[in-house]
Amino acid sequence: GVPIALHVFFFQAVASPPSSNFLLLGPSGAGKTAFATLLEAKSSLASNKSHDTHTSQQSTLVTVTLPPTVPTGSNRYRSVNDPSLKEAVRNPIKYRVRDTPGHGKLRASQGIAELQAMSQSKDIKTRLRGVVFMVDTAALVDEATLRDTATYLHDVLLFLQKRAKNGSSSKRTTDISVLVAANKQDLFTALPPGAVREKLEAEIDRIRKSKTKGLLDASADTELEDEEEILGNDEQEAFSFKLLEHEVGVKVDVVGGAVKGDLQEEFGSGVRRWEEWVGMCL
Ligand code: GDP
Repeated sequence: GVPIALHVFFFQAVASPPSSNFLLLGPSGAGKTAFATLLEAKSSLASNKSHDTHTSQQSTLVTVTLPPTVPTGSNRYRSVNDPSLKEAVRNPIKYRVRDTPGHGKLRASQGIAELQAMSQSKDIKTRLRGVVFMVDTAALVDEATLRDTATYLHDVLLFLQKRAKNGSSSKRTTDISVLVAANKQDLFTALPPGAVREKLEAEIDRIRKSKTKGLLDASADTELEDEEEILGNDEQEAFSFKLLEHEVGVKVDVVGGAVKGDLQEEFGSGVRRWEEWVGMCL
C-alpha cells in the first residue's frame, strides 16, 4: 500500500475547510466536553495532528472530520462499495463543534446566548447548522434534573421557533435541526431513547401549561402581548416533537449513544448514530 506518511500528507493537502457549525448544549454533566474531546481525538488521529486538551472553562471550537463511511444528506446512499467513498476518503468532510462553558444554572443562559450569536450569522462559513442537546439518560429519573433539562430544552426550542417564524419570508435563514443526544446508554440505569423522548415531551408540556397560565394571569391587567410565546403553537394538543415539526418546522430527533463506557470501547460505535445525524445535516 501507500506509505502512511504519504497518505497523511495527501489527506491533509486536499481536505476542504469546514463549512458547517454545530453547537453543543445541555445541562452540566451530560457529557458535552467528553463528546467534543472524543470527536477531536478521532479527528486528530485521522489527520495526524497533535491533540491538545482543553479545559471546560473556556468556550472551545473543535474542527471535526466526518468518518468517510458516514453518509451525508447530499450523498444519502453512500456505501462501502460506492466509488464516491474513495472521494470521501481523499477529501473528507469537516465540520465544527462548539462546546459551551460555564457552571450550573449559568450554563443554560450562556448556552442560549451562544445559540443567539451563532444563529444570527449570515456568513455561510460560520452559519449554525444544528444543535446537539446532550442529556444524561441515567440522571433523568430524578425529578429536579428532568425539570432543569426540559426547561433548558424548552428555551432552546422556543428560540428556534421564533427564529423560524421571523425568517420565513427570507430564504436566507437555513434550518437549524436539533439532536437530543441520549447519552450514557452504557449505564444499566439509563432510560432508553424512547422513554427519554416521552419524559421530555411530557415535562415540556407541563412547562408550556404553566407558562400559558402565567401569561393569562398577567393579561388580567395588561394586554396579552406576545401570543407566539407558546412552544408548538397549539396549546390544545399535548406537546410533542412531532407537533413542533408540524406546526413550526423545527425538527427534533432523539438518538441514543454513549461517549464513554463499554459500548464505546468495545465497538467504538457509541457516537456513530450521532455522526450519522450530523452527516444528514451536511
Ligand atoms: P459536561 O458538563 O456536559 O461537559 O459533561 P462532561 O463531559 O464533563 O461529563 C460529565 C461526566 O460524565 C464525566 O465524568 C464523563 O466521563 C461522564 N460521561 C460522559 N459520557 C459518558 C457516557 O457515555 N457514559 C458514562 N458512563 N459516563 C459518561
